[in-house]
Amino acid sequence: MGKTSAGTTAFGRLHKKATHKICRRCGRRSFNVRKKYCAACGFGRTSKIRKYAWQTKPLQRTVRIV
Ligand SMILES: [Zn+2]
Repeated sequence: MGKTSAGTTAFGRLHKKATHKICRRCGRRSFNVRKKYCAACGFGRTSKIRKYAWQTKPLQRTVRIV
């Protein structure tokens, strides 16, 4: 008693080795340490920014008339 919750609850994230670190290019925590590339932007894997069409919602689909 008397102690704050800074103990046990915070220990949950210890022990695990971080698989992803902060990416130098996109700033997200998506840089895979083992594979040495960023899962979000593809840094370390490709010189181009990783980007897919399905990432963004299509602006407008033609309305299908049933
Ligand atoms: Zn990145």
